[in-house]
Amino acid sequence: MDPGKSKTATISPPRIKGLNEVGRYAVGVQWADGHDSIFPLAHLRRLCPCNECGGDAAAARAPAQPRLTQLSRLGERGVYLRWADGHETLYATAQMRAACRCAFCAGEPERPLTGG
Ligand SMILES: [Zn+2]
Ligand SMILES: [Zn+2]
Repeated sequence: MDPGKSKTATISPPRIKGLNEVGRYAVGVQWADGHDSIFPLAHLRRLCPCNECGGDAAAARAPAQPRLTQLSRLGERGVYLRWADGHETLYATAQMRAACRCAFCAGEPERPLTGG
């Protein structure tokens, strides 16, 4: 622990405290720093970080209204999602947090929205 380095550029994401499905079309994440995120499934699927989903073509192929068949935490490291069409997604904790689009995260001055 080094208490003098809280403002370094290295951003270590807070831990995920809770994970749950919200209705049929969204996932809720409760963070250790008190933040709450709601991720629509379509949003999570579109941002899937796997190689297969990397291109625009894959994004276009993704179901418009994806469904989850499994949702689990991978300890401190991230979140595992399995989709109804058989696709699997692994989100690292930092990726999950970066995908939050709540008013607070979207307006965070340290993460300005850049086009593209
Ligand atoms: Zn994918
Ligand atoms: Zn947020």
